[in-house]
Amino acid sequence: MSDRIMAVYNRAPMVFERGVGPWLYTQDGEAWLDCVAGIATNGLGHANPKLVAALTEQAGKIWHLSNIFRIPGQEELAERLTANSFADTVFFGNSGSEAIECALKTARKYHAANGQPERIDIIGFGGSFHGRTYAAVNASGNATYLEGFGPRLPGFIQLSLDDMDAIAAAIARPTTAALIVEPVQGEGGARALTGEWLLEVRRLCTEAGVLLIYDEVQSGMGRTGKLFAHQWFAGAEPDIMAVAKALGGGFPVGACLATAEAAKGMTFGAHGSTFGGNPLAMAVGIAAFDEIARPETLDHAAKVAETLSNGLSDIAARYADIIVDVRGKGLLIGVKMVTNNREFMAAARDQRLLVAGGGENCVRLLPPLNMPIEDAKEALVRFEATCAAVRATLAQAA
Ligand code: PLP
Repeated sequence: MSDRIMAVYNRAPMVFERGVGPWLYTQDGEAWLDCVAGIATNGLGHANPKLVAALTEQAGKIWHLSNIFRIPGQEELAERLTANSFADTVFFGNSGSEAIECALKTARKYHAANGQPERIDIIGFGGSFHGRTYAAVNASGNATYLEGFGPRLPGFIQLSLDDMDAIAAAIARPTTAALIVEPVQGEGGARALTGEWLLEVRRLCTEAGVLLIYDEVQSGMGRTGKLFAHQWFAGAEPDIMAVAKALGGGFPVGACLATAEAAKGMTFGAHGSTFGGNPLAMAVGIAAFDEIARPETLDHAAKVAETLSNGLSDIAARYADIIVDVRGKGLLIGVKMVTNNREFMAAARDQRLLVAGGGENCVRLLPPLNMPIEDAKEALVRFEATCAAVRATLAQAA
């Protein structure tokens, strides 16, 4: 591996040359079953023909303009996003972190516009992950991502998801601007919040005039079988929401969605981006949206999720020495391991199965929403074979 690349990732050694749907192929044609999907990003699989067509068609027209010009694709995609969510308005960036950055700025600016600039505190949660920009790591629950980068920025508070009394007290404080939460924690280990939790926090935020921000970077765009995970619970809508990953199906794009009220401080000059929402990103984003938002795609995702979750629960029952439990929502599945999750991921590679890691010693399965059912069954076969191999290794070591 090249030492010309900053060593911030511990990379798996395989090199993939091409992909089709949930399959990846190495140069020598070896097929690997991809239940990582770019960590919930290739929502429609690799080389999806509709996305390839949208990208190549746009590539022959205009790649990039600047946000000082109208970009019709932005207007079209924003139309779709707002028509299918709580939101009235959208800002496009290039990543999840940028969507979070915009969400946090929007929240503070809202209070400044209301004549309450002292409201700057952002309540975040243990186990959460919101990205790697300064604001995003400060809002995130994993303190190690802040190590060596100077002090925590002012106005970022960390609480436990399980301590509703502390949450209520923090929301009621006069310096609180917003609360940010993933309806289904991704990196934290596929922890799905209940409708009860979300509705209670929604109620407390509304009562106190605090903005509710959802990070649906990982859980959004069909991953749980609804377009956005919070849509399973009527009345739990946020004021602001960050979306990215599957929004571009693998092409870099992120979006910050907000109600007109929450976005009222985001006036001319308040924010910007060179690449955000450029014509290439918008062409792919529109094609991905139209495919993901189809009821058939969402229903299929729910069926794949059921196949995988049931199958994994059966495997867990047969391998209680390896697996603690199966959790998550839809196709954001976490399998909490007894044994080391990183070692399990390596063992899965021997079966040519790709799975992701996650907090609380989880292994995550995040396959494309359109994964064929027979491929989901094949993933289960390979997952069980991995469990058997791990058990054999443990027996040998004993
Ligand atoms: N928020 C969540 C929930 C994520 O899972 C991620 C990335 O994994 C991010 C934010 C950051 O997104 P990006 O890596 O595109 O900046």
